[in-house]
Amino acid sequence: MEWRIVGGHAALDLANTVAPRSPGTVEEDHLSDPAALLDWAQRAGVVDEAEAVQVAQAWAPEEALADALEIRAMVDDTLHGRRLAALTRRWAEAMARAEMLPRETGATLVVGADPAMMIGDRLADALVDLLRHADLSRLRSCPLDEGGCGWLFLDRSRNQSRKWCTMEDCGTHAKSRRLTERRRSASVKQRAGA
Ligand SMILES: [Zn+2]
Repeated sequence: MEWRIVGGHAALDLANTVAPRSPGTVEEDHLSDPAALLDWAQRAGVVDEAEAVQVAQAWAPEEALADALEIRAMVDDTLHGRRLAALTRRWAEAMARAEMLPRETGATLVVGADPAMMIGDRLADALVDLLRHADLSRLRSCPLDEGGCGWLFLDRSRNQSRKWCTMEDCGTHAKSRRLTERRRSASVKQRAGA
């Protein structure tokens, strides 16, 4: 599977695993089975290669997938202020399993220290991080009404002018579709004039 990771944040990349992201319709769910989840988690930087091996040995695959899909559903909800208590509970579970490891000075918090729960714990933590720390004034969605895919991303461009998930993908599609439509309407006009 060729993953497109465009959200600029793991929680948004999680939301972007359905296409298109249109309310009430899911045409394609890219997290169709546990193997896809593990593959995506690696590609999205949620786990590294060695951790992915640990996860595969330790997890209950279907439960981990259900957990990840539940957190995915919380992305939209919590961005709209809903189900915050449910996310808090899930995040508290993740924190209960987290470990503090010493550094030369201070310590590092390792979320997802338990491989069986690693992906879900890190996704819950990522979503809390998104809500708490991301600059959500830069949150955009690839415009569905103009032929985009509805995927979410943080627009980090300097003048905040990013419109599409990727220019090469939806941006180009939309441009070529507009061109086709223009040509079609031009030829209709020509015929009407003839
Ligand atoms: Zn798009």
